[in-house]
Amino acid sequence: MVARNRVRWLGHAAFEIVTAEGVRILIDPWITGNPACPAEKEEFSDVDIILVSHDHFDHVGEDMPFLLRDEPTVVVQPEVLADLKSKGLEEGVGMNIGGSVDVGDIQITMVQAFHSSGSGSPCGYIVTTEDGTKIYHAGDTGVFATMQVLGDMYDIDVALLPIGSVYVMDPLQAAHAAKMLRADTVVPMHYATFPALVQDADEFAERVAELAPDTDVCVLDPGDELSL
Ligand SMILES: [Zn+2]
Repeated sequence: MVARNRVRWLGHAAFEIVTAEGVRILIDPWITGNPACPAEKEEFSDVDIILVSHDHFDHVGEDMPFLLRDEPTVVVQPEVLADLKSKGLEEGVGMNIGGSVDVGDIQITMVQAFHSSGSGSPCGYIVTTEDGTKIYHAGDTGVFATMQVLGDMYDIDVALLPIGSVYVMDPLQAAHAAKMLRADTVVPMHYATFPALVQDADEFAERVAELAPDTDVCVLDPGDELSL
């Protein structure tokens, strides 16, 4: 059987990607304290790459000193890198919006996001795995028209999109994002974690069916994974 890339939702904006070649990538690793996360930090003692979209607590999390012990490659903005160095990071890869870096055979592309942060500016990531699979994690963001251009430039296999409203896109904006991105599959995230957020993905799924009928909606439960 051909090995496939796996994308596991850890609740909120936290995802683990395990590539077909076995490279483990954590994005926005809010594990301890995340009411939606079904995993314990110990499970992630030997990840290879960590990406952080911005420095809010529900993205950078509190486990960084633990996660950094096995010296994963951390790929973040220089300002976030400086913060992480105070939490035990010795070396990392600083990059910024528009750029791509290779970590082994994985390509990390940083893209814009519209949100706020204490340091640096919020971003999203497009991860291209060894076999060319493209996974877009939008970070925390409102909708923006450049998503159309991202859809032109990149043949996105799966887009992980926040839908929870209040702090990020609501289901209507996220469905328009799906329309512009033209990914094969969209996975809703950043909802139901807090009482203030949208509590289910029903409206998002309905609106995507209307606005982007060629895109599949894959609603995961925390802990579930998608193979692609
Ligand atoms: Zn945030």
